[in-house]
Amino acid sequence: MNLTSSRRGFLGTLGAVATAAFATPRKLFAARPAAAETASAVTGFGQSGNPYQELGVTTVINGEGTMTTLGGSLIKPEVEAVMAQAARHFVSIPELEAAAGKRTAMQSGLAGILTGDNPKFIEQLPDLTGMKSEVIIQKSHRNPFDHQLRSTGIKLIEVETRDELRQAVNDRTAMMHFSNFANAAGQIKVDEWSKLAKQHNVPCMNDAAADTPPVSHLWDYANMGYDLITFSGGKALRGPQCAGMLIGREDLVHYALLNNSPYEDTLGRGQKVGKEEIVGMVKALELYLNEDHDVLAKEWQQRLQNISSQITKIPGVSTSFFIPDIANHVPHMQITWDARISLTPQQASQVLRSGQPSVVIGGGEARPGLAMNSFMLQPGEDQIVAAQLVKVLRAHSA
Ligand SMILES: *Cc1c(COP(=O)(O)O)cnc(C)c1O
Repeated sequence: MNLTSSRRGFLGTLGAVATAAFATPRKLFAARPAAAETASAVTGFGQSGNPYQELGVTTVINGEGTMTTLGGSLIKPEVEAVMAQAARHFVSIPELEAAAGKRTAMQSGLAGILTGDNPKFIEQLPDLTGMKSEVIIQKSHRNPFDHQLRSTGIKLIEVETRDELRQAVNDRTAMMHFSNFANAAGQIKVDEWSKLAKQHNVPCMNDAAADTPPVSHLWDYANMGYDLITFSGGKALRGPQCAGMLIGREDLVHYALLNNSPYEDTLGRGQKVGKEEIVGMVKALELYLNEDHDVLAKEWQQRLQNISSQITKIPGVSTSFFIPDIANHVPHMQITWDARISLTPQQASQVLRSGQPSVVIGGGEARPGLAMNSFMLQPGEDQIVAAQLVKVLRAHSA
């Protein structure tokens, strides 16, 4: 196992990976006290300190959480600084990967299980001739991200019960996959799934992409016996948006690397990771592990309380608080109102989004009204969100 259960050991033994382009989103609004460096060195594109504005793309205040469609999360200034340092040198990427730890994500993880270190198999994917060809998944765990698994050419075999699982395992079975956020939905829970995989001698993977906090999830599933675990680098870890982490068995992580960029004739070549992202991910992880997570959770709750105290002054408006068990396991606030306000939650959400500044607040997580979280808000934005909400709700009050 390429991982220990302590924080100190943890950072030393794992690293990062990424895909796609390198971007460093800075302050959302140029109007906010801009860091001294923002406007200085850049002329032409970017000289305003807000490249998005220059492109005519609206920046938004994010009350929805770590949504990939909104850009994930904002990397911290220190991560930005280390990424800029990384951009000033050439290095051997395989050497960097080894030094930074072990890296990559779902597709490459499975590809590595399928190919091992066989160069012919690596070049051959997604043609599975000569390899195993099936991955077992609970029916309730199917989700759009399993496209990454299917892209290796494997067939997903759906099961619901323990009996069905037993019958599904055969000599074509490459892996058993678990979608962490779907834990409650499936009959077989996260700890039993890895035990059953061990019994059947099949490697198992857990997609825990959005499942920090709590920070302990970074090692919990490895300790539970999962052979490979994936985390998104650009969600709560606040690493580069195109980065991710593959944690687990050293041999399997090694095989995953062989199926990825910089190697050219590989399935993962399109998931190129830059040296800046690899280095930035290591920094983000260091910062995340050193964070006081209790203090952060209190701060996130306080921001919601601040908003609540403003909007509940409007007759008919109430708020309540909840924390989803898994995925975005952070304080959320539900906002509801009675007939005194003639506006549907969908309309309110739309008006907020098209407002100035634009505020994104999600649906109700299957609850009535609006629901929001505050962990992606920048300092002071809770006040802006409160003001925008008050404006919208008052405008439609009887
Ligand atoms: C966000 C997410 C992914 C994708 O991770 P990225 O590394 O951000 O692309 C995969 N699975 C789940 C469940 C996710 O929430």
